[in-house]
Amino acid sequence: MKTDIKSLTLDEIVGLMEQWEQPRFRGAQIYAWIHAGCRSFSEMTNLPASLRGRLEEECALTCPSILRRQVSQKDGTVKYLWELGDGNTVESVVMKYRYGHSICLSTQVGCRMGCRFCASTLGGLVRCLEPSEMLDQILFAQKDLGIRISNVVLMGIGEPLDNFDSVLRFLRLANSPEGLNIGMRHISLSTCGLVEKVDKLAEYNLQLTLSVSLHAPDDDTRDLIMPVNRKYGVDEVLRACARYFEKTGRRISYEYAMIRGVNDTDRHARMLAEKLKGTGAHVNLIRLNYVEERGLEPSTPRQIERFTRILTDSGITVTVRRRLGSDIDASCGQLRRKTESN
Ligand code: SAH
Repeated sequence: MKTDIKSLTLDEIVGLMEQWEQPRFRGAQIYAWIHAGCRSFSEMTNLPASLRGRLEEECALTCPSILRRQVSQKDGTVKYLWELGDGNTVESVVMKYRYGHSICLSTQVGCRMGCRFCASTLGGLVRCLEPSEMLDQILFAQKDLGIRISNVVLMGIGEPLDNFDSVLRFLRLANSPEGLNIGMRHISLSTCGLVEKVDKLAEYNLQLTLSVSLHAPDDDTRDLIMPVNRKYGVDEVLRACARYFEKTGRRISYEYAMIRGVNDTDRHARMLAEKLKGTGAHVNLIRLNYVEERGLEPSTPRQIERFTRILTDSGITVTVRRRLGSDIDASCGQLRRKTESN
């Protein structure tokens, strides 16, 4: 088994160089090449040929290929379908905002959480991504588009906290000043609310934004759409969020996909308002993206407005997510799904 060198930190690569009796500065050179999106060791032209040869022999440099690339005609959102070294595929989406470019990236091939409205989970979990494979989505999207990505959201395929160690290592790599240098405050991690892992993440006291996919204020409703709720109920998740806020000082952002007649009634809004009042929480309403296989419908714009008003009247800040890339299946495993079933 070759060492997956892109998953190593700068210190670890320096350590490897020491082990190989190379000068320490070689470690920094290699790290810089890797994080500039270098595709092969032979491109690392400031290293001696003998060292390049040894790297070739003992290390692997991951390099996904672009299987499909779709550009939204409406807003320039770009969606990638990557083919990984073992032939598996994952997606990322690059969106342009006023403040810069943001990437939504995948953390697993498939997902085992089983949310009823989500396309990513239809075929279950295939495997977790390595830190290198998460980094690659940024490195090669940047290269392809000739831009710098300033913001990262872990909201693509997969449940990040179900791949905890690799995701944490990825965050460290993306955040490293010698690498992409993406500030923790420019990173959001979205989870369906794995309570023990939320507590574990709090211990690291990272300044990232934790987004929690709540989607319902009560167990009866949440049980229907998110099987994970049978393990961690709404109130248990909310208590974990309160502990997270206490420990890190970072407010939680709750995601709420509006599904017609399922979780979008005035009663749901009032219940949600009651539970979140005074917690400093932010609610991000997302009009459900219709997934063919799922048979659930998005809420009407009018109901989304009513829902928003009930929340804001209780002092809760609400944003309704803009629907970027709606013409290119730019949500939640839809592209991978289409390609696989073709
Ligand atoms: N597993 C993580 C992150 C990936 S999903 C999580 O559950 O948070 C990113 C967000 O998209 C989650 O809030 C998820 O619930 C939501 N989502 C999934 N399918 C959707 C759909 N069809 N319409 C709208 N939002 C959806």
